[in-house]
Amino acid sequence: MAHPAHEDTVNLVKEIFRSYLKERNQRQTPERFMVLEEIYTADGHFDADDIFFRLKEAGTRVSRATVYNTLDLLVECGLVQRQQFGKSQYYYERAYAYQQHDHIICQECGTVLEFCDPRVGEIQEMLSKIHGMDIKGHSLHFFGSCRDKEACELRKKDGSKIVDIKE
Ligand SMILES: [Zn+2]
Ligand SMILES: [Zn+2]
Repeated sequence: MAHPAHEDTVNLVKEIFRSYLKERNQRQTPERFMVLEEIYTADGHFDADDIFFRLKEAGTRVSRATVYNTLDLLVECGLVQRQQFGKSQYYYERAYAYQQHDHIICQECGTVLEFCDPRVGEIQEMLSKIHGMDIKGHSLHFFGSCRDKEACELRKKDGSKIVDIKE
C-alpha cells in the first residue's frame, strides 16, 4: 500500500509552498496550507471534490474555489501531480518525496493500481538518446478491467478507489 507522507515531508513541502507563494506575491492563507496538508497526509489519488468534502468533514471552511485554485498552484510549483485516468475529470496526487510510479486503471470500477518498473526509466533514457531530447518525466497509464469480476463489482458499488503499489 502507498503510505501517507512522513511528518518531516509535510513540513518541508509547506516550506516549499510558502516560498513559492511569496515569490509570486500570492497570499499565504491558512486555507491553502490546509489543502496541501490534506493531500500529503492522505493517500493515493483523488479529485478536487474529494479534498473539498474531506476538509468540510474535518470542520474547516475551505471553499470549493480555494481547493481548485490551490490545486492549480500546487501543480504549478510541482508539489502535486495532475493525472487524467481516461474520464474527463482530473485526479491529483502528491509529487514530492513520493516514489516514481505508473498506473493501471480498471475502467469498470475505477481502481487505480500503482506499479514501479525500472524498464520504464530505461525506455525514457533510450528515447532521450535517440531523439536528442532531455526528457524530464512521463505519464504512463494502462487501461483494462479487473480479472476478479466479483471484487470489481463490489468496488463499483461502494465506490472506493483502492491504491496499491506493486514493487
Ligand atoms: Zn499514482
Ligand atoms: Zn475493476
